Amino acid sequence: MVEGHNSQLGDYHLGVGSLGVGSCLVHVTAIIAAGGRGTRFGGAVPKQLLPLGGRPILERSVDAFVRHPRVTDVVVALPAELIADPPAYLRSSAKPIALVEGGARRQDSVARAFARVPAAAEVVVVHDAARPLVSETLIARTLDAAVADGAAIAALAATDTVKRGNEQRLIVGTVPRGEIFLAQTPQAFRTSVLRDALTRGRGAPDATDEAALVERAGHPVRLVEGDPRNVKITTADDVALAERLLAPASMLRIGTGYDLHRLIAGRRLILGGVVIPFDKGLAGHSDADAVCHAVTDAILGAVAAGDIGRHFPDSDARWKDADSLALLARAAEVVAGAGYAVGNVDVVVIAERPKLAPYVDAMRANLAQALGITPAQVSVKGKTNEGVGSIGAGESIAVHAVALVAKNA
Ligand code: MG
Repeated sequence: MVEGHNSQLGDYHLGVGSLGVGSCLVHVTAIIAAGGRGTRFGGAVPKQLLPLGGRPILERSVDAFVRHPRVTDVVVALPAELIADPPAYLRSSAKPIALVEGGARRQDSVARAFARVPAAAEVVVVHDAARPLVSETLIARTLDAAVADGAAIAALAATDTVKRGNEQRLIVGTVPRGEIFLAQTPQAFRTSVLRDALTRGRGAPDATDEAALVERAGHPVRLVEGDPRNVKITTADDVALAERLLAPASMLRIGTGYDLHRLIAGRRLILGGVVIPFDKGLAGHSDADAVCHAVTDAILGAVAAGDIGRHFPDSDARWKDADSLALLARAAEVVAGAGYAVGNVDVVVIAERPKLAPYVDAMRANLAQALGITPAQVSVKGKTNEGVGSIGAGESIAVHAVALVAKNA
């Protein structure tokens, strides 16, 4: 039974029946399918043991069900080599965890796991170990629908236009999008429904999910609203995506920079690599470009790599009259070497005179080029100091900068 043909997610029938609401008394057994070897990764380590945010993918998937208040016990189908020496997190747990050796095909693994499901189980929920970001609410939603309707799977309504193509990669038709749902796990079933489907599926062709077996056996299967975050980890790119979904905040760092130079006669005024016509310039060892210096400190600070003085000391003759844009570019290499990319930079230049507005865009272009980003990622604003203090008296110029950096995927 495919319902919710409307592609709007909100039009799904969630299948919350009278039996499903808060039915904590239903014995639910979770089967975690981890029998595959993830050959698409090509590595020696099974993909389900690769770390994701510091914990193995398999541990995260199993833990989602062990911690779930509606799940009574768990059966995990594993490759033979893991059965011989299972990881510690599969041996001790708050809930019973049974381990079984997986079979050649997915349906064989699930059938073997099903044989270990306690007789008291009323609902069995099957989940791919390769979907470690499954949420508590998605599990609950799927269980509710299975209790109400007998069988239910998490699925996403297609948002892309779907084409049917032939072997020559030519389109032979456009499939009405409202009929397309992308299957995820969890997939939950009344125990009797899954038993019937697995029995019939024993000698049947390969099925890529349990719902296919249940459909073939003639049982209606409810589609419940899936979760775009519930990604399946198939390739190394998927690991990077899951890392970002897991802890986006940890991927970002921020840095701040400040600089002040005295204005003196007989020097060129250089800000952000732009030579600005003025009767004074900034005093300093290098070209005294305070904008570049503040931005350099901001990006170095964002990755905790010290400051401009540490990387380009005054005492080093190499940096006398140095082009500060070149120093900034070197600092950007330090940031890249730490595994981060500059996201954006915002700069405030505090100068009583001259007026900076005519030079702002040229500064942004120079800074962007040195940082390897676009001018749209760089902001430069000019302020006066309202005549106050040394800046207000035209004796100095100060610059503040902040930089956001993001960890490379
Ligand atoms: Mg400086």
